[in-house]
Amino acid sequence: MDAFLAVDRDRFPDLLRSVTDFAARELAAVDERPAAHPGPVPAPQPLPDAGVGADGALDRFARRWAPGFSGSAGPRYLGFVTGGATPAAVAGDWLTAAYDQNAGSDTGSSAGALERETLAWLRELFGLGTAHSGAFVTGATVSNTVGLAVAREWLGERQGVSVSQDGVAALGPVTVLSGAPHSSTGKALSVLGLGRACLTRVPLLPGGREAVDVARLAEALEALDGRPAIVVANAGTVDTVDFDDLRAIAALKERHDFWLHVDAAFGGFAALSPRHAHLTAGLDAADSVCVDLHKWLNVPYDAAVQFTRRQDLQVRVFHNAAPYLGLPALPDPDFLHLTPESSRRLRALAAWFSLTAYGREGHRDIVERNIALAHRLGDRIAGTTHLRLLAPVRLNVVCFTFAGDAPAEELGERVAAAARAVAASGEAFLTPTVHAGVPALRAAFSNWRTSEADTDRVFEAVTAATAPAT
Ligand SMILES: *Cc1c(COP(=O)(O)O)cnc(C)c1O
Repeated sequence: MDAFLAVDRDRFPDLLRSVTDFAARELAAVDERPAAHPGPVPAPQPLPDAGVGADGALDRFARRWAPGFSGSAGPRYLGFVTGGATPAAVAGDWLTAAYDQNAGSDTGSSAGALERETLAWLRELFGLGTAHSGAFVTGATVSNTVGLAVAREWLGERQGVSVSQDGVAALGPVTVLSGAPHSSTGKALSVLGLGRACLTRVPLLPGGREAVDVARLAEALEALDGRPAIVVANAGTVDTVDFDDLRAIAALKERHDFWLHVDAAFGGFAALSPRHAHLTAGLDAADSVCVDLHKWLNVPYDAAVQFTRRQDLQVRVFHNAAPYLGLPALPDPDFLHLTPESSRRLRALAAWFSLTAYGREGHRDIVERNIALAHRLGDRIAGTTHLRLLAPVRLNVVCFTFAGDAPAEELGERVAAAARAVAASGEAFLTPTVHAGVPALRAAFSNWRTSEADTDRVFEAVTAATAPAT
């Protein structure tokens, strides 16, 4: 055994304590850590021939790399939709590494059963019935990809062919209908061999909404003349957190033949708040559902969940059994027959820890506090004369731009400069977007740590970066 490895084996507990102390210091300072780190990164070094041991590695990491890491775990990082990590979730994630289970197969470990218990909790949290089975995946992109892979197999079933066996060429033309899909839907369609071009955008409701016009969706389905299709409904768009009317879309199934996939990556968490749960009404009627967990559940990257009502079709797509053994038995085959991965990290443990530690109430509180803070920032921005909201604050995102009617190109430059200035202040991090053709900034609240005082600091950083020179 390598000498350093032998030493580390004997000193393993000391090493864990050193890492704990280091992480504790970093986390104690995360409130004041610059939200973004735009600075230069260290030059790459050659692969070491001889090592330095784990203490040496920790020391080098602390000096070379840690200073450049962003404050994305902290309270004023409001770019994209970036969750933090609750204390219990971090603990669960550390133990995931310590136990190093392969949650692909149930052989010889209860890890898969822990994942199933966690999935049942999540299903209940999002208001799904027991007809939905689930699995952990790495993120909402993969969750959408798995849901659409099952949808693809369903299209084959409707046409009397097996896509998993004979490939997408066995399918006739494929139509995927959606109002304001997340970019990951196009990526998924590309990966699945259906092609980005099969996505047809259905008009949205008037008035700057990002929710699909259900009457126009019905027309698009009607025009297919009975040919089965896939509908991707969106529960929480990234710019303005708009929600498709899931119940009305599901009701279209009475007259039209389609697979309903719902991308509820972070909008699904509206179900936790009694005042906002109506936004996700109808989610249970979906054939497949995507929810991210590293966003609003506040577990560390990377984790998401996918649910579907057709585990049988999912197994056809993802089974990893020798053909002569037949397909794995339902329900609840080993997870390696359900997801793109065969060997799998026990991602469920971080979620299990957080749900056990804080329960439904604790996670509802995170969601409701974030929503209240988004309204607080939205109200303050609406109260300025030089900024304006591009949409009402519907949930946890504030989408705003400069007041006035500058041409889009000039506005785009001002928005980009403002985003850079906010990031350079270290006080906050916001990401730019273009909503309905108008360049804008977004502030997305999804971190358990964020407080009212943080929100006021974000407002001040935004004001400093956008206020007209006097
Ligand atoms: C974030 C997001 C995704 C993609 O999620 P990843 O976890 O980054 O793969 C998909 N859909 C929506 C609506 C999202 O907000």
